Parts: sequence; structure tokens; C-alpha cells
Amino acid sequence: MKKRSEQLVEILKRHNARVTEQRIAVLDAVMRTNVHPTAAEIYDQLKDRFPSMSLATVYNNLRVLTSEKVIVELRTSGDSSRYDYFENGEQHYHAVCRSCGKVVDFSYPELTDVELAAARLVHFHETSHQLEVYGLCDACYQKSHESNRLQALS
Ligand code: ZN
Ligand code: MN
Repeated sequence: MKKRSEQLVEILKRHNARVTEQRIAVLDAVMRTNVHPTAAEIYDQLKDRFPSMSLATVYNNLRVLTSEKVIVELRTSGDSSRYDYFENGEQHYHAVCRSCGKVVDFSYPELTDVELAAARLVHFHETSHQLEVYGLCDACYQKSHESNRLQALS
């Protein structure tokens, strides 16, 4: 088993991204959770370890990692972007809560057929796809129904 830091360096090199200690830490922060962190959340997590690092540096690293296709920027409805990493070609989708902004992973393997369709129908090559489903998470749904119920009672 390779050390995690070596794996991170390898991923950066494979994508031709310059390797710095802060960039490794930012990538690690995106990879190690499934909460799809924002830049501010990553900054909060790393600022003790890198006291000289600014929020702008985190943004800058996320921008490089996104443009080198190491990570993906999610199209969530909130004000700040959230980021995710897809393990070796593993595809998954996101359910985004309109109320609290929570982003939950789910898989739907059948959907990879849309890439075959794009290849067959409009002759596209090297395709990729991304999908977000918007709605209310169960907690927000229950909460809104509870308050509707209380309003009806009063
Ligand atoms: Zn919610
Ligand atoms: Mn995800």
C-alpha cells in the first residue's frame, strides 16, 4: 500500500498539475469526505496547518484542480461552489437540497448510456456527463410539513 500523500502526488502529476504542499492538502480535503466542501470550509479545515495560507489561495488551488479535471465543481444552487472528486472513473450523481444546500451522492449506473447515445446520435467523442437533482432532503421536507401543519392548527 502506498502512502496517501504519495497517491495524492501521483494524481496531481497524472493531471500535469504543479505539486505544492498546499495543493496536496486542498485535494486531500476534497477527497477524504463526501460532504462536498466549499472553499471556505476547506480553508477553515486547513488554516491551522498552513497559517500563511489565505482563502484566495484555496480558491486558486480549487480553480487549478478543476481546470486540470482532477476534481469537479458542482452546480449547486447555493452561493458558493462545492467540489467533489470521482474515484477512478466511478460515476455518481448528486441530490441537492433547495432548502439547506446539502448535497447527497447516489448512483444510477444506467445513466452512463447517455454517453453512448451522444456518440451514436451526434458523433461526440471523449464524452463525460454530470447530473444534479434538486429537491428537498427528507429532514427539510418533514420540517416544512410540520410547520404547515402547525399553521393550519393555529
Ligand atoms: Zn435540506
Ligand atoms: Mn459526490
